[in-house]
Amino acid sequence: MSSIQNDSDQAFEVVAETHDVFNQAGALENYNVFSSDIPLLETLAHFGLSDTAELRAYGARCGSAEVIAWGFEANENKPQFDTHDRVGHRVDLVKFHPAYHQLMNMALSEGLHSGPWQESPKNTHLERAALSYMQTQIDAGHGCPLTMTFASVPTIKLSPRLAEVWLPKILNNAYQPENVPYFEKDAVTIGMGMTEKQGGSDVRANTSVATPLRESGNGALYVLNGHKWFLSAPMCDAFLMLAQAKGGLSCFLVPRWREDGIKNGLYVQRLKNKMGNVSNASSEVELRQAQGWMVGEEGRGVAAIIEMVALTRFDCMVGSTAGQRQAVAQAVNHAQQRSSFGVRLIDQPLMQNVLADLQLEVEGSLALTMRMAAALDKPDDPAEQLLMRLGTAVGKFWICKRTPGHAYEAMECLGGNGVIENCIMPRLYREAPINAIWEGSGNIQALDVLRALQKTPAVLDRWFIEMAKTAGRYALLDSAIAQLRAVFSNSNNLEFRARYLIEQLALTMQASLLISSAPQAVVDGFIWSRLSGGRGVYGCLPEGVDAHAIISRVLPDNRSA
Ligand SMILES: Cc1cc2nc3c(=O)[nH]c(=O)nc-3n(C[C@H](O)[C@H](O)[C@H](O)COP(=O)(O)OP(=O)(O)OC[C@H]3O[C@@H](n4cnc5c(N)ncnc54)[C@H](O)[C@@H]3O)c2cc1C
Repeated sequence: MSSIQNDSDQAFEVVAETHDVFNQAGALENYNVFSSDIPLLETLAHFGLSDTAELRAYGARCGSAEVIAWGFEANENKPQFDTHDRVGHRVDLVKFHPAYHQLMNMALSEGLHSGPWQESPKNTHLERAALSYMQTQIDAGHGCPLTMTFASVPTIKLSPRLAEVWLPKILNNAYQPENVPYFEKDAVTIGMGMTEKQGGSDVRANTSVATPLRESGNGALYVLNGHKWFLSAPMCDAFLMLAQAKGGLSCFLVPRWREDGIKNGLYVQRLKNKMGNVSNASSEVELRQAQGWMVGEEGRGVAAIIEMVALTRFDCMVGSTAGQRQAVAQAVNHAQQRSSFGVRLIDQPLMQNVLADLQLEVEGSLALTMRMAAALDKPDDPAEQLLMRLGTAVGKFWICKRTPGHAYEAMECLGGNGVIENCIMPRLYREAPINAIWEGSGNIQALDVLRALQKTPAVLDRWFIEMAKTAGRYALLDSAIAQLRAVFSNSNNLEFRARYLIEQLALTMQASLLISSAPQAVVDGFIWSRLSGGRGVYGCLPEGVDAHAIISRVLPDNRSA
């Protein structure tokens, strides 16, 4: 305060502060992303993974204010692209903010790209999925190169010659972002190039051409000419790419630097100006005499790269579930601290309906995702593989598709603050549609489900066997499953009806999995709201759902433990 004189020489006080700030929610930070997530703890325990010190420590790290700030900085400072260096040498260099490098270093050091592939110490797929789910809540963008590096392993193994050189570097839990040849590095990352201008879903339309440099076949060096319309994380050390060889569409590992130490003919044209996924650079590239080794057999490119794609699709399930979880955590954090009309939002019945419904979505997504992670951990069990074949396509379709609407509704829980860029909600919202589009868009997943049903009808039997484990527990679920069987008995116009079929496959499986692993309130809420028809927007849970019990699972009081 200061004092001034008025005409009558009387001093009066001027109030410099206009108001007190109150009734605003504090940021959700310095909390444990792992131990504050009750459904995560329960689901992992259900599949045999207990609350380990490692997971707890990683959860604390992910929830620290420092790491959360990295997520913001990496997105506020877009990757920058330099075609040439200061004196005119072509460099094709993408520069990232230091926060992006911090996030990459954190994840790679923890083995988010390598855990299940290691000899020892080794993570299960379940554990890696849990770590990845936590990491993605900080920032989804840098998850792209992590996922691609993780998913490249089965494909690269198809070529023993390449595996010998590349796998030790891929599996090294370290981050070496330097722009130098792979053979000068102990740790590398791997990207993927399939999509071309004339077709992304239909990769058979690829026009890039590969010709052998000397010998041909698996592991031999070819020269590639053409382009890729989307190539994310262009600073990866090599990319699994498709190109047409004499024997048909084939898969190649194309390094950024050639084996003779010369920069490879991989020319970044520009970076994509994306709506979301900002911390991740996505580029357009031209291939001019780019050298790459064939991976797998000539003409079997799709079969080779599908090994990678199956895992990136699984990671889309993980990533979208993580986005949903973070959105609900933010919404509940706000509702716990904000009052309106004299009552905390979290205590207002209508807001409880919305929050509980949003949380039910997370519960269903998490149950399906972690069930698939558990199946991934049993590669030699044919029954688990049948379940995964359908489950990855169904899960990728359903969970990714549900995420944009979920992000929007969670954003609205924060009111106007939810659309302001200094909170994570706008980022979650912009990120939400992307997992549904890449790695096979919604319709492509739907067609993949039909393909699986046609090629291996046992996948559907396996799906019903899994759900039979909870038969007789909920009449609504039993009748939804019976209807689903009837729907499948009609094979007319399957393609036209595919989305509906997959929605029902997803919902019934999610309900069944929740019966096995979640408490009564969650199961009641999920089944009554998702399997009784007539739902529109979030927040239409029927009376009788214990919203309080469901919401209390989002952010317990001891959230930093
Ligand atoms: C941020 C971002 C990063 C990406 N990074 C990479 C990358 O690193 N590497 C890479 O290879 N690609 C990448 N992509 C490309 C992505 O995988 C493709 O955009 C995607 O596969 C779809 O291909 P498209 O864009 O050519 O669309 P199209 O194939 O033309 O599809 C358009 C629409 O038609 C639908 N459709 C297609 N066929 C059918 C059909 N038979 N019946 C019904 N519907 C159909 C699709 O579902 C889609 O909705 C990236 C994309 C994005 C957005």
